[in-house]
Amino acid sequence: MYVELHKTYRDTAEGQTARDYLSACVHCGFCLATCPTYLDSQDERDSPRGRIYLIKQLLETGSAGPATQTHLDRCLSCRSCETTCPSGVEYGSLLDIGRNLLEQQQPRPIPANAMRWLLRHTVSRPALFGTLLKIGQFFRPLLPGFIQQKIPTKQAVKQVGAPQKTHSRTMLVLEGCVQSSATPSTNAAAKRVLYKLGISLVSIKKAGCCGAVNYHLDAQRDGLDDMRRNIDAWWPHINPESETASEAIISTASGCGSMLVDYGKLLAHDPTYNEKAKRVSDLCRDISEVLLEEDFE
Ligand code: SF4
Ligand code: SF4
Repeated sequence: MYVELHKTYRDTAEGQTARDYLSACVHCGFCLATCPTYLDSQDERDSPRGRIYLIKQLLETGSAGPATQTHLDRCLSCRSCETTCPSGVEYGSLLDIGRNLLEQQQPRPIPANAMRWLLRHTVSRPALFGTLLKIGQFFRPLLPGFIQQKIPTKQAVKQVGAPQKTHSRTMLVLEGCVQSSATPSTNAAAKRVLYKLGISLVSIKKAGCCGAVNYHLDAQRDGLDDMRRNIDAWWPHINPESETASEAIISTASGCGSMLVDYGKLLAHDPTYNEKAKRVSDLCRDISEVLLEEDFE
């Protein structure tokens, strides 16, 4: 895909990087088949290819309207489309640039900004989110039905036990943001399964949100700080010079896993963290990858 950058972006690093990502796209449309928002809406503008064209238009004209913002906002950042792209288009990275540039072009209404601020400052803070969830569960019977549906019952989030003993083989597990409150049984189940295979999954308390919440809500600096905090928390356990370093960092939420894999790329410019961030990316594994390699006999 040929892109003629508008003068606003011609000499910027973001514009040139976005152009490189765009140039790999051959508009074949294979990615549409794996995009949940396109499958739901059947609207090309809610597909990866459609969003790629919207970002191209922004880069070439130097402006975009609220409709473009709506279609980019609707993207789940799941990156499922990347798995079916024959040209290896780095859609997730392109989208981050597109959203960031658009944010500078297209101011949001105050209520929308307030909602995004609220999301960033609650969802990415596990302790605060856990407290709010408990309050919501307490008042759940009094709330309107459509809000009740969004609050899991106490029974649904009941904590199921995980093994307390440890094996010599260890892997770290990302507890993330809302998962430890909203679906605590997921990591507990992962711990039980891997324990049977002779691996202990270890949670590090000081680690938290992977950074995706802030990063994808256009607070990229805060997202990078989330990543640095996790690296600091994990480093004593993954330092390659340590004889007891953990083998991997496991994610049981695919969106968070996609973010961990990108730590090395996103912190490449940071001389203090770039090597450590690359180590995190190298160690990041989805739990399904680990299970595929283990012997179940
Ligand atoms: S599959 Fe890849 S190359 Fe084809 S339209 Fe989608 S992003 Fe472009
Ligand atoms: S990241 Fe997910 S929702 Fe967004 S375009 Fe790709 S497949 Fe669709």
